[in-house]
Amino acid sequence: MKTAIYPGSFDPLTFGHLDIIERSSKIVDKLVIGVLNNSAKKSLFSLEERVSMIKEMTTSLPNVEVGSFEGLLVDYMKEINATIIIRGLRAVTDFEYELQIAQANSVQNSDIETIFLTTNLNYSYLSSTIVKEFASYGGDISKFVPEQFIDRIYAKYNITKNTR
Ligand code: ADP
Repeated sequence: MKTAIYPGSFDPLTFGHLDIIERSSKIVDKLVIGVLNNSAKKSLFSLEERVSMIKEMTTSLPNVEVGSFEGLLVDYMKEINATIIIRGLRAVTDFEYELQIAQANSVQNSDIETIFLTTNLNYSYLSSTIVKEFASYGGDISKFVPEQFIDRIYAKYNITKNTR
């Protein structure tokens, strides 16, 4: 049984992430979405909120689980018996960093393979940072995130008026 991990901050989950989740869940036996608890980086949503938002959107995918980790990804992978890392590639700007991390992880544990999925053309511009940037000014984020997240994201910026 091939277990893969899709690690990330998911702060918040976007349509770009969901596309990678749906596509990668079809090519592995089990997919664990690993939400990074990075205490050094201030996140908009708490770890618990990020985990529950992802769970909400993945209930229809039977081989997908949501977990969280702190520290080294390779250590978490041992814990959950995963040997594959899924990452999404949007533009060349992602490439250099991703290549380095993939190679470093493989040096740590040679059983680990990183699989890169190219972004869906519709979401190649999309990142959690873009969502936060637009939301903080009350901009339209309906093409970026699932509808049920919109008010929750605006609420983080104390925006209550309906700007959609
Ligand atoms: P990180 O802080 O690890 O980059 P993110 O939550 O920003 O965490 O992203 C997690 C993964 O999802 C990364 O591999 C990233 O490249 C990928 N990803 C994010 N947005 C998109 C998108 N629009 N299309 C494809 N992959 C994406």
